[in-house]
Order: sequence, then C-alpha cells, then structure tokens
Amino acid sequence: RNLVQRAMHLLQDKAYVNGEWVTAASKKTFEVKNPATGEVVGCVPDMGVEDVQKALEAAKVAYESWHTKTGKERSELMKRWYYLMDQHHEELSKLVCVESGKPICESRGEVTYGNNFVEWFAEEARRIRGEIIPSPSNNKKMLVERQAIGVAALITPWNFPHAMITRKAAAAMASGCTCVIKPAEDSPLTALASAKLAEEAGIPKGVFNVITSDKPNASAVGKLLCTSDLVAGISFTGSTEVGKLLFTQCAAGIKRVGLELGGNAPFMVFSSADLDAAASGALACKFRNCGQTCVSANRFLIQEDIHDEFVEKFAQKIKCLNMGNGIDEKVNVGPLVNKAQFEKVSKMVEDAVAKGAKVILGGKPATAYGELYYEPTLLTHISSDMELYKEEVFGPVATLIKFKTEEEGLAIANGTQRGLAGYFYSQDVSQIFRVYNKLECGMVGVNEGIISAAEAPFGGIKESGLGREGSHHGIEDYTYYKYICIGSL
Ligand code: ADP
Repeated sequence: RNLVQRAMHLLQDKAYVNGEWVTAASKKTFEVKNPATGEVVGCVPDMGVEDVQKALEAAKVAYESWHTKTGKERSELMKRWYYLMDQHHEELSKLVCVESGKPICESRGEVTYGNNFVEWFAEEARRIRGEIIPSPSNNKKMLVERQAIGVAALITPWNFPHAMITRKAAAAMASGCTCVIKPAEDSPLTALASAKLAEEAGIPKGVFNVITSDKPNASAVGKLLCTSDLVAGISFTGSTEVGKLLFTQCAAGIKRVGLELGGNAPFMVFSSADLDAAASGALACKFRNCGQTCVSANRFLIQEDIHDEFVEKFAQKIKCLNMGNGIDEKVNVGPLVNKAQFEKVSKMVEDAVAKGAKVILGGKPATAYGELYYEPTLLTHISSDMELYKEEVFGPVATLIKFKTEEEGLAIANGTQRGLAGYFYSQDVSQIFRVYNKLECGMVGVNEGIISAAEAPFGGIKESGLGREGSHHGIEDYTYYKYICIGSL
C-alpha cells in the first residue's frame, strides 16, 4: 500500500468544528501538495469568516463546561489523546513528511516532540496552582486562583505541522481554554489528523476545532480571530510581518497575545571550541528541515584563527548530506516547502554572490531532484550589505562571517532586531558564562545545536515575539490571575 493509504485512517478532507466533520459554507476546497513531488496528497475545505464564526461560537459554548472540569478530568482526556497520538506515531509522521516535505526521520522526531507537549500539558493540567496571600488584616482572607482566559485562537505555520499545534493547543486545553485552530494552508492535514484522534479520545465537542483556509482567506479569517469578542487570546507562530499585523489587530480588543516570530540566530564558534563538535552541531542546527525552522542558525560567526579549519570541517560534513524525497529513509535534506520559499532562497544567494560572497559548496538549485530543491550551500566572505546577513534565509544556506574578538563577535550577533535562539561553541568556562549572559535572545545553546524540548520554555525577545511556549510557563498565555478577597471574617 502506498503511504497515503497507510495514513488513510487519519487523512481527512473535512474540517473539524464542534465535534463534527464539516465542509466550508461556500463548498470551496483547496489542494495540499507534497513539496517533494508536486503530487496532491489531500484536499480540504477553504473556509471563510462565516465558517470561523460558527467555530468560535461552538468554542465559546464548550468553554463553559471545559474550564469547569477539574484539572484531573482534563488531564485524563488529554492523556488518552496522547496515547492515541503515540499509537499513530508512524501515520502522523508520514503525513508530516508528505505535506511539508520534511524527511521522514525528522518527521518522526517532530511527532515525538509534538506528542510530548500533549503528555506534558496533560500532566501540568493538575498543577495549575493558586496562592493564599498572608493578609494584612485578620478580617480578610486573600486568595489567588488561575483561571482560563476563554477561547484561544491559534494560527500556525507549515514548518512544524504537528508540533506547533500541540505546543499551543495542549497548553490552552490544560488551562481550561477551548481552541479554534487555523493551520497553515501548506500543511493542514496533520492538524486534522490530530482532530480525528481528539475525537477518538473523547475530547468533548467544541474544545479542539480545526478550520482550514487557503491563503487568500487568511487575512479575513485572521482579522476575525483578532477582533471577535468571542476570542480571549491569540497565539501565533509565523512570520514577523504577519505577527506584527496580528498584534496591531489585537490591540483594539486588548486581547492576550502570544507570538513566536522569525529569528536570525547567530551560531558562534570561538577559538577554544571543539571544532568537530561545533561542525556537527552546525550541521544539525542549519540543515534540519532544510533550514526551515525559526531557530535554525542563520549567521555562523567564526573566530578568525580557526575560521579556515572550521570551514573545512563543516564543508566535509555538508558533503555527506543526502538530498531527495524525504520519504526515503536515507534522505536528510528535502525540498523547500513552496515556490515562494524557493525563490526567496535563490534570490538571497544571488544577491550575496553579486556582492562578493564566495561559494564553497552549492549555491544553486538542485533541479535534478525536482523544482523545489536547493543545494546545501556554504558561503564565506559575507558582508553586512547582503540580504543574507540581515534576513532569515529559511533554507539550506550556511553563511560564514569572520570575527576577531569576543566583543566584536557579540556585537555582530546582537546587531539585529530579532532575538529568538543563539548558539555558541567554546570550551572556556569564563567565556561560556560571559557570552550566554550577553547574547540578546530568548534561548541559548552552548555547545549544543538542538535545544527544543516540551520541558523547556521556547520563545524570543525583541521582534522575535512575546510569551513562552512549553515548560510550566506555557500555561501563562492561557490563564489569568483572579484575586479573591473574602471580608468580614
Ligand atoms: P510563513 O512565512 O511561515 O508562511 P506566515 O506568517 O505567512 O509565515 O504564515 C503563518 C500562518 O499565518 C499561516 O497559517 C498563514 O495562513 C497565516 N497568515 C498569513 N497571513 C495572515 C494574516 N494576514 N492574518 C492571519 N493569518 C495569516
């Protein structure tokens, strides 16, 4: 059986609203294509504001009975959902692979990571504690409880079709919120598969709603989610540009906002570093998901005296990457997700080369594999006037910049309005403490290129976002403190 058939049980062609599988009021649909081959892997409803309004109303009704359940009751339902996700690990991984182009080995990693959020927040649901404040007067008792904010609207990107949904939805649901989720148009199938499993797990109707919309509907749907009185908060992961727009739209209604936006991660290698470890970390950090993650290293900053040796070691590792259709177990670099992304990467490399960048490896499309493939690329002689220096490339392109002193390296690393992840390799203990302290970003990997985990708080500073996802802090965005003063005692 082909892989689509194997995942058939979870492959849905309808959206999931109020516990029902529904079409768009307009009856319009759109196709989902495999970026590796261009083949159509699914077709889902193209919903508009009318459909979304219904989902919001259902979520609001469901909120009344969901947030009044005990944490333990919510936890038990969510655990069942987690067990089903774990049982369907391979089918979910295949769906992630075919709709996003992510190699199957990494798709499995994403599903494990994504499932972990459901498990983690199922556990956290029982630990959302309040406090009793020592009162300044004996006739008053002062209590603080944490309450769910209400309906959460969740908008997610295509690069992690599974984990970006569970990271938000599981936190929201554990807190007692219900959610209306709009997955990215490129990869809505895994979200619908999660909805199928939520249904099977007995998650009550209206708690987890997935609405699918094609790109032309995104802005109208987004506007409704940001401005509707039915919505208490928005959580968005995606581009900085759209994040800023949503933040502005949410201002009028003073909505809770959680934003995980673009990064521009520096990856610094100091003279004292273990260069083999640094080259391995660099490879994992840059080429995972073909460079299409917001925590991917975007600028490699290499100390002058070890620059050439590092280039050599890094190049050797890049040469061993296997490009191709990610459903093949041996492949570790797949295609870019779509034409727009492919063109952006190509243009950024052309711009850099025109301005003096030196191509050590790659530097061109890998047309032999298909129309969305780009060769793993290594560029040196990068300067500050190049697009690649300023912007996140979101592709398999590693750019190397030389620096002389720690101070200069840090100035380059911090010379951006983004502040999501940052990485550095050093074996000098004092330097490790100095540098992590000064790096202006929300997450730092020291001698480590892969840092995400359900247990750890994910998020950025500057224009990379607001709030934290995962960890016990992940429930902050979905709860508020309610202070209760009991008087006349
Ligand atoms: P990316 O560059 O990762 O595709 P986007 O920010 O364009 O990032 O997309 C992330 C998510 O935001 C997707 O679900 C997309 O449909 C949605 N989106 C895009 N434009 C808007 C908008 N104007 N309002 C609300 N959501 C939007």
